Amino acid sequence: MTSTTRSRATAVVVGGGPNGLAAGALLAKAGLDVTLLEAADEVGGGTRSYDGLLPGLLHDHCSAIHPMAVGSPALRELELERHGLRWLLPEVDCVHPLDDGTAGVLMRSVAETARLLGPDEDRYRALIEPSVRHWDTLAGEVMGPLLRVPSHPLLLARFGLPTTLPAVALARLFRTPQTRALWAGIAAHAFRPLGRPLTSAIGLGILVSGHAAGWAVAEGGSQSIARALEKALREYGGRVETNVRITDHRQIPAADVTLLDLDPGQAAAIYGDRLPARTRSAYRRFRRGPGA
Ligand SMILES: Cc1cc2nc3c(=O)[nH]c(=O)nc-3n(C[C@H](O)[C@H](O)[C@H](O)COP(=O)(O)OP(=O)(O)OC[C@H]3O[C@@H](n4cnc5c(N)ncnc54)[C@H](O)[C@@H]3O)c2cc1C
Repeated sequence: MTSTTRSRATAVVVGGGPNGLAAGALLAKAGLDVTLLEAADEVGGGTRSYDGLLPGLLHDHCSAIHPMAVGSPALRELELERHGLRWLLPEVDCVHPLDDGTAGVLMRSVAETARLLGPDEDRYRALIEPSVRHWDTLAGEVMGPLLRVPSHPLLLARFGLPTTLPAVALARLFRTPQTRALWAGIAAHAFRPLGRPLTSAIGLGILVSGHAAGWAVAEGGSQSIARALEKALREYGGRVETNVRITDHRQIPAADVTLLDLDPGQAAAIYGDRLPARTRSAYRRFRRGPGA
């Protein structure tokens, strides 16, 4: 069969959270014929919003602040602004108040944040500034697949070494309660006891990407991100089917590529005996953290 007569490769994405939508839209942009299957009556998963709590209040179900998304090379490729997404950047990114009326304050600029942190100015800059300066290059490394040879190993190592520390150990670098409180609140997004190894990783990722790209919120709630992704997927010819809950692999249409935007336990339930025994039991043992 020649390339001109060959039919398009096909892809099925199960789950229409932001990751499934982004994967589907990127595959469709690359020319694949994509179908996305979503169990709920609308796509979005953790990036949905709800206006039924109080009149006039738009409430994000899960994600609200998106420093990683606004700086994501993959999302940039999808030009979501063309599909109605508008990022809003606050003047002050984040504040951690203390009982004595003072606070740890995070600003977009590293220099301004460090200045406000007083005695911790130099340490904060030394920890954060090099990675912020190279974030454009680093973002692809940090957000890419874990198991691969990095293209910028030294840069990744410079960012990666402090991420291996427990957040509690990294807090000891800082002298003031304001800096420690700011760090603790951000590091707590790891949703693990902060004395465990690697609990600095999420906090440093949020801080560095936030300084580089901003602590953005989506105008109209985080649902605007999902809607823009869905529009991008459709623009590239993809299809979205909602109210389709996959419980068995035989429900999934045959395709060249099948992606599951699900957790390992769901994957084990759907593929059952088709998975190698060791993989199946590892997937079944997967424990969810409190945040997901
Ligand atoms: C309380 C909370 C606050 C958060 N705050 C932030 C934040 O401020 N900033 C940030 O960046 N991140 C935040 N997050 C994390 C963010 O929400 C997740 O990282 C993100 O939603 C993960 O996207 P996903 O596409 O991988 O999965 P999900 O968003 O979970 O999407 C999975 C989708 O699959 C569908 N699905 C499930 N089972 C099936 C099935 N069997 N068949 C078909 N479809 C199925 C679901 O309905 C859902 O739409 C927060 C998370 C929580 C819980």
